[in-house]
Amino acid sequence: MALPGVSTSPLRSGYDTIIIGAGVQGVAIAYELAKRGHSDVLVLDRSWPGGGASGRNGELIRSAFGSREWCELFELSRRKWLGLSQELDMNVLFNRSGYAVLASTEQQWDQCRADHRFQHGLGIRTELLDEREARRALPAANPDLVRGAVLQEQAGFAHHDSVVAAYLENAARLGVQIVAGEQVVELLRDGDAVIGVRTARGQEVRASTVVNAAGGQALEINAMAGLRMPLVAARLEMLVTQPVRPFLKPGVAALELLGYCHQTGRGEFVGGTELARVDESTSLNGTWTVLQDMASKFVRLFPMLAGVRLLRHWAGTVSQTPDLAPVLGPVPEVPGLVLSVGWVYGFMGAPGAAELLARHIVSGDTDPRMAPFGIERTRSGAWIREGSLVVDMDLAEETA
Ligand SMILES: Cc1cc2nc3c(=O)[nH]c(=O)nc-3n(C[C@H](O)[C@H](O)[C@H](O)COP(=O)(O)OP(=O)(O)OC[C@H]3O[C@@H](n4cnc5c(N)ncnc54)[C@H](O)[C@@H]3O)c2cc1C
Repeated sequence: MALPGVSTSPLRSGYDTIIIGAGVQGVAIAYELAKRGHSDVLVLDRSWPGGGASGRNGELIRSAFGSREWCELFELSRRKWLGLSQELDMNVLFNRSGYAVLASTEQQWDQCRADHRFQHGLGIRTELLDEREARRALPAANPDLVRGAVLQEQAGFAHHDSVVAAYLENAARLGVQIVAGEQVVELLRDGDAVIGVRTARGQEVRASTVVNAAGGQALEINAMAGLRMPLVAARLEMLVTQPVRPFLKPGVAALELLGYCHQTGRGEFVGGTELARVDESTSLNGTWTVLQDMASKFVRLFPMLAGVRLLRHWAGTVSQTPDLAPVLGPVPEVPGLVLSVGWVYGFMGAPGAAELLARHIVSGDTDPRMAPFGIERTRSGAWIREGSLVVDMDLAEETA
């Protein structure tokens, strides 16, 4: 049985826009296009909507970062998250329990203080919690790992499957055709321009705009366009435990552990950590190495998790740039191709980025909040410096 909103009709020979990938980015862009009256849109996914990283992530949402570029794009998104259930008339289960960036060392605390000042300068409301206040906000945390925190109260986490379903059903209602199990294997070209796609079943479909929103496979789509840019695939893992009594209210990004986590309304603890190397393999199986890393770090952070049973453990892939920021917008030398790639924080970023990309596709305008994320920086090397990510930045730059 097809998922609600997924089309079983045959593909037509042409559309205004084709979006490759029905992850949260693809379906959100489709919805934002259709909302602007641009509904002659086809979304193709080789598997099922949300089957990529969008259905495998940590679900965390914040806009409290340390750089102007990240703060401005993700603040637009966060504001949209606040009203998303209402706008889409479906409950995306956005839980506003807050998001804390946790400092464990003096250096991280200095960074939190600087980020907090910076966020306030931009009008983003966050609280700076000193050691005592942070321990009160995170009573189950190991005090040795709590030096202070930046808490964004109007942030938190949402249910990833609900979000993809809500965007998808709304896009379909507005006339977008979303097709599952249809892989793009080639981009049709007219000179340098991209003018459509060929699917694995051999069907050619034309469009004036083709959006690469293929997540961890975005590199493959770029290669079909002959596009070279520093982008690597990266594999991440998550775990979820059996339900335990409520012990953790906000989502947490623990800088010291390169880890992020939250506790669901049902009591499950959900978390993921980053290893000190990028794993470019594409397997979706969990590994013992990462499981041990996650388990040992989270038990260190929350000692009461010792002995709690795991429910599940899984992997997902993303594509990432050297500065871990997405690449959004057109490619000057490949007319017709638009990118929404390199997303490492692409769940929280989807509502805002999709709006700005849709506006760009419809009108050609580039919003100042989207402009810094254009492809130009991957050529000039003028990377965005964002210090509050729970990923080893130096490492990302070396590997890409
Ligand atoms: C373990 C983990 C934890 C994460 N935690 C967070 C978090 O807490 N907060 C956050 O904001 N982000 C998080 N992320 C990142 C976030 O999940 C991604 O950035 C986001 O989901 C990217 O969305 P997307 O739509 O671009 O890609 P995806 O969801 O991966 O979708 C891409 C789609 O493209 C399809 N596709 C690929 N190739 C083709 C092709 N040739 N033809 C047709 N279809 C194709 C795939 O089947 C897939 O469905 C996490 C990611 C992982 C893996």
